[in-house]
Amino acid sequence: MSAGIKKSNTKRRVKKPTGKKSSRISGFHALGRVERLAAVAEFAGLDSKTQKQFQSTGNLPGELAERLIENVIGTMNVPIGVATNLIVDGEELLVPMATEESSVVAAVCNAARQCRNTGGITASTSGALMIAQIQLVEVSDPEAARLKILEHKSEIAEICDGADPILIELGGGFRDLEVRVLQTQGGPMVISHLIVDTRDAMGANAVNTMAERLAPYIARWTGGKTYLRILSNLADRRLARARAVWKPSAIAVKGLGKQNMPGKKVRDGMLAAYHFAAADPYRATTHNKGIMNGISAVTLATGNDTRAIEAGAHAFAAQSGQYTPLTRWEIDGDGNLVGSLEMPLAMGIIGGATKAHPTARACLDIMDVKSAEKLQRITAAVGLCQNFAALKALATVGVQKGHMALHAQNIALMAGAKGTEIDRIAQIMTQKETVRLDIAEAELKQLRAN
Ligand code: NAD
Repeated sequence: MSAGIKKSNTKRRVKKPTGKKSSRISGFHALGRVERLAAVAEFAGLDSKTQKQFQSTGNLPGELAERLIENVIGTMNVPIGVATNLIVDGEELLVPMATEESSVVAAVCNAARQCRNTGGITASTSGALMIAQIQLVEVSDPEAARLKILEHKSEIAEICDGADPILIELGGGFRDLEVRVLQTQGGPMVISHLIVDTRDAMGANAVNTMAERLAPYIARWTGGKTYLRILSNLADRRLARARAVWKPSAIAVKGLGKQNMPGKKVRDGMLAAYHFAAADPYRATTHNKGIMNGISAVTLATGNDTRAIEAGAHAFAAQSGQYTPLTRWEIDGDGNLVGSLEMPLAMGIIGGATKAHPTARACLDIMDVKSAEKLQRITAAVGLCQNFAALKALATVGVQKGHMALHAQNIALMAGAKGTEIDRIAQIMTQKETVRLDIAEAELKQLRAN
């Protein structure tokens, strides 16, 4: 955002606050939403129009928002777009995606359309195993402590399962125990991993409760001291996988004059783009960002924890010691382009906002999702399609062309265009192949003068 835009927003929205300001607002959390907003408005000098904007909470009722997080003053609405054309494991699907970024939804639609003639995307998962870690310190004989913990495996299973009878009823619960001795700057530590099947839950609260229950026992058995007891977001026992085949004839670029490109050339360009990412973390980071455009959008639309998924994805991508792409691209014996994706996807359909947020529920309904496993498969399929579309754009016309139409509208909006002016200004900039705020402002001025 340019300094100019900030300036104009500042002018319109924020009155210069008067008096001495302090962020120490005693009892802020105990105020009602309206009073909290009034306190913020006074602090920041918000005008009544801006306050009204916060008061409208869209599809998340204010009372519900206050049950999800603390100190609520409003909600942040993000568009939900629907990806069409997807076939995942033989099922025709419409997939809701919540994102503020233009072209993301369109990219999935295009990629999914181009692999329909080979049956769409095949997906699978490795199960719903989450890991909770318990940190044990101040043990003089860490190797012996490790064995002592392992000797209590059946008791550990009982303690963990006792912490969550509902999960046990549903067929989940403790599955395995791993104990490692870590050499750290602060001396040796004994780290226990509880491996737990959390079924349809993401499982953070479920496994954290188990770890907290178990920690005092571990301390007693070993004579050490336990500190951290929390899940690992490197959910490498909860992988989702997706693969698909694109025929050269389906991916040829047509109708763009000089930029027409036969399918085999497109395929080879995409493969070269992947090879670049596989060799270079600078490129791999952006490659994976593109994948996460799709993954995070489905994660957000379904009320899942985007940070947990992001953290797990990037840690998984770096597991070899070098940051690498989450997808692989190859050419099969028939000359087709074959893409595959494998990454941790700790998603749930129960717990957190997934159950509480009415729109998240509705998004799950659109996909007829009744298990976390299905949601993981669909999300992986979207991630793969997203990557296909990005690689194809990069290897052919570049990403800006696809971005331009919506981006131009965003810029027109920023320049102050309203109603039909938005499309008109966007169209002028797209025709000129220069989308910039100063151009939008100048064109708007001229349009209005005429
Ligand atoms: P949760 O504790 O709200 O719900 C899970 C519980 O629901 C289970 O323990 C089980 O008792 C019950 N349940 C009912 N039906 C079930 C079914 N079909 N399958 C599985 N369990 C079922 O939710 P959670 O998934 O344990 O925790 C997710 C929340 O924790 C998210 O909001 C996340 O943001 C948050 N969180 C994340 C982290 C992290 O990622 N590091 C840490 C703490 C909290």
